[in-house]
Amino acid sequence: MHISISNFLQRSRNYDASVTSKTHFRLNNQTLVTVHGPGVIEFEPVGGGDSFIYSCGIHGNETAPIEICDELVQDILKEELLLCHRVLVIFGNLDAMNKQTRFIDENLNRLFCNTHKEGIQNNERRRAAFLEQCVEDFYAKDKGEVKRVHYDLHTAIRKSINDKFAVYPYTHGKAYSLEQLAVMSACGVNTILLSHSSTATFSYYSSHFFNANSFTVELGKVMPFGQNDMTKFEKVNTTLRHLITSNDNNPEFNSEGMVLYRVNQNIIKNQADFTLHFGSDAPNFTGFQKGEIIASETGKEYIAEKGGEAIVFPNADVPIGQRALLTVVPISINELDTI
Ligand SMILES: [Zn+2]
Repeated sequence: MHISISNFLQRSRNYDASVTSKTHFRLNNQTLVTVHGPGVIEFEPVGGGDSFIYSCGIHGNETAPIEICDELVQDILKEELLLCHRVLVIFGNLDAMNKQTRFIDENLNRLFCNTHKEGIQNNERRRAAFLEQCVEDFYAKDKGEVKRVHYDLHTAIRKSINDKFAVYPYTHGKAYSLEQLAVMSACGVNTILLSHSSTATFSYYSSHFFNANSFTVELGKVMPFGQNDMTKFEKVNTTLRHLITSNDNNPEFNSEGMVLYRVNQNIIKNQADFTLHFGSDAPNFTGFQKGEIIASETGKEYIAEKGGEAIVFPNADVPIGQRALLTVVPISINELDTI
């Protein structure tokens, strides 16, 4: 290595001087390495290729994807992986990682698409601004007409009936990519939630502003560093590595076993007494019968409108005015406009 940045993640978490300002160097295999700043590193093989972004740790305590990306970066730096495509790896919230918490001041994944500019600046708002700039700079250097990809890797707070699932950001009517659904399937992600509106998430940002093929990928339940059963992540790990080291990275879509959901209700907490009518440990995608009460607050009851309507991301403790949960219903692939 030209300069030593082994243990890039550890150096980033320590704000080591070797990673705090922008630097470039080449590996012996001629891959150009650019350190954008703490937690953000870019690799460009000779010849360019497609443009992949893998982000993790947007929530600091979601350790499994951080461990996957950490090993990936180390293997590229050790020249054990030879890239065919450009890759930007982002470790999102370093301060929250150090404190083993989801965030310091507020949820980083609600601050993209310029939301970070509003209000009082804090750790996460400054970080969102920096990460947006890194994404913009990375895609600005595309080598011609290339495919843009961004997988924002997470683990969920609660268990899920479908252990792994991905959120397909709102496309504003653009066709859904079967090739991308096939990639998710190869990652072991067979449940896809189709988002219904613009959001301030990282994946929506790259999808909407840069036309990237983006997903928020939820890979299972949050565990402390070192306590993840990494065998559960073998498919995603293998697929993420294959995609960037092969020119044969367009898997065929097979709808078998894949379940798609569309959002039915976006339930906002309007009163302090907002209550969920199911156990706090109910897994994501728990289904309800038509007419069952899902949640209530003074003046309003929220009821399952369809049979099999399921809950996702419930959290009664959000501030008033924020989303307390989504409900979703299954949708057939044949009902969608696909490409
Ligand atoms: Zn997360």
